[in-house]
Amino acid sequence: MRDFVYEKPINVYLEITIACDLECKHCRAEAIPERSPEELNTQEVKELMDDIKGMGSHLIISGGDPLKRKDLFEILEYGKEIKLPTAVTPTTSPLADFEKIKKMKELGIYALGISLDGADENAQDSFRGVKGTFKNSMNVLSYAKELNIPVQVNTTCTKETVKEIKKIYNLLKEKFSPPVKRWSIFFLVPVGRGMQLQLPSHEETKDIFEFLYEKSKSSPFHITTTEAPSYKVFYLLKEIEKGKKLKEILESEIKMGFGIRDGNGVVFVSHKGDIYPSGFLPLKLGNVRKVKLSEVYKNHEIMKNLRNVNLLKGKCGECNFKTVCGGSRARAYGAKENYLEEDPLCFFGKEILK
Ligand code: SF4
Repeated sequence: MRDFVYEKPINVYLEITIACDLECKHCRAEAIPERSPEELNTQEVKELMDDIKGMGSHLIISGGDPLKRKDLFEILEYGKEIKLPTAVTPTTSPLADFEKIKKMKELGIYALGISLDGADENAQDSFRGVKGTFKNSMNVLSYAKELNIPVQVNTTCTKETVKEIKKIYNLLKEKFSPPVKRWSIFFLVPVGRGMQLQLPSHEETKDIFEFLYEKSKSSPFHITTTEAPSYKVFYLLKEIEKGKKLKEILESEIKMGFGIRDGNGVVFVSHKGDIYPSGFLPLKLGNVRKVKLSEVYKNHEIMKNLRNVNLLKGKCGECNFKTVCGGSRARAYGAKENYLEEDPLCFFGKEILK
């Protein structure tokens, strides 16, 4: 099988602030309304952007709410100047108005990331903790449509929101394709405020995977998962069942992001500049104020371990698909405090994975 080791990150996620006006139940950043004095300043962010540009990676500016930073447009302007592919994931609050989204487009962002966890006001507003969030999300999607900005919609899958997944698909397909180009279902990793929430059961996960696979064949946008790389194995097995050759699938389905997981193709920088393999794996590996992100990504022992599937333990260690999947290292750490352990979301029996 092909070796999916990413020597450079494809995506660098920068939590530019933890300030946010929403109170989302799953918030990794445990966001608060005010900005922290410890945030990286404008110059520090620009230096980080130079490093990211040097690696040839994409920058995804997240939060908190990036619009809480007054220097966001100056930062985007710099990204445009150095030709750094940059996307922004604003919070869908009234701060994300038409003019600001338009300005982001003028400053060259290649995509917007929008969160949607419910298909109506009740579901979305209760999950996001603030009334009016669903309406704001619909507004931002409409602005993106009018301005022709590609959107990735991120949907959190928990025991509570699992019933929303199918409805959200229908809503996006009927009303927002375009601008939606990619829909990513994030399977909860219990960190931050998300510690209070529960993962869907194996049965529910399998049902969602079935749904995603079935829709992926006709969907107007690409469907993917975050922190659930076993969906890629599910996808592969379905395609093999249909008679496709493994080599052919791996080569034709580049968008599936085979092998990408915490520390392998992605890396995360917090608002204080702390470096983590992903936003959900709380292993601090250094700080960009002291060391280059490119250096940590390439040479830190934990990053190297995360990219070495031969070190994986339990079911993941024995799995024949570990190079295309490798399990969520963040969830493994959450469950057993060992980032090399098996991913408890995985429902495959050992016999299937041989
Ligand atoms: S056992 Fe681990 S590597 Fe294999 S499919 Fe499941 S999560 Fe992925």
